[in-house]
Amino acid sequence: ILSVNHVERSFPVGGQQLHVLKGIDMELRRGQLVMLRGRSGSGKTTLMNMIGGLDQPNKGEIYFMGHPFHQWNDDKRTEVRRKQIGFIFQAYALMPLLSAWENVELSMRMAGIPRSMWKPRVEHCLELVGLGKRMHHRPFELSGGEQQRVAIAKSIAHRPTLLLADEPTAELDSQMGAQIMSVFREIIETEQVTICMTTHDPTILEVADHVYQMVDGKFVTT
Ligand code: ATP
Repeated sequence: ILSVNHVERSFPVGGQQLHVLKGIDMELRRGQLVMLRGRSGSGKTTLMNMIGGLDQPNKGEIYFMGHPFHQWNDDKRTEVRRKQIGFIFQAYALMPLLSAWENVELSMRMAGIPRSMWKPRVEHCLELVGLGKRMHHRPFELSGGEQQRVAIAKSIAHRPTLLLADEPTAELDSQMGAQIMSVFREIIETEQVTICMTTHDPTILEVADHVYQMVDGKFVTT
């Protein structure tokens, strides 16, 4: 579903070019759980932004579902992103005054999904992440792990092909982190989604189908 070919990205910093990605090749296939690991500053977020169509490479190609992200303008990439990609952030990004249910509903509204489809889909997504009994709680009434599960439900509600998660377990203890990983596995099984995530946590690496290790803007084999 995703093919990254010889991607390079640099940023102008203080009159010079800072080379952040130095020739990245990567493939994501349907139903895979792939992890990116590497030190802070190695370029993981920069690469994730590119895969998600938020940024473009200076060189190289990115094809998502056959769409040439490296050639397309912001509007075209945004359109594809809105329909086919879901994002999960470290800090949950939930609306504090809305219940779990309303948070998931909001993301369906933003994706332009017809109102008549909201109810069954919201229910399904919250049940899938194990929050069937907590659908009407607001974020402050939920634990960190539960909030992250709401964020996951929210990110899959519009049926994305690809889910991108930036350090989804960083704020959680190892038990909750493991729970999030089993939720990811469940989602892959039931929704045929592909998940690409960054992590610093060595205890969850074994759950991945593939781990890309990034050092200084390149992948190295471990
Ligand atoms: P972390 O694990 O801390 O999130 P990371 O591996 O995700 O780190 P990136 O956020 O991709 O690393 O950053 C890589 C390098 O690129 C850093 O030195 C950062 O300062 C630089 N960088 C990223 N985005 C920009 C930008 N828009 N302008 C200038 N420099 C940038």
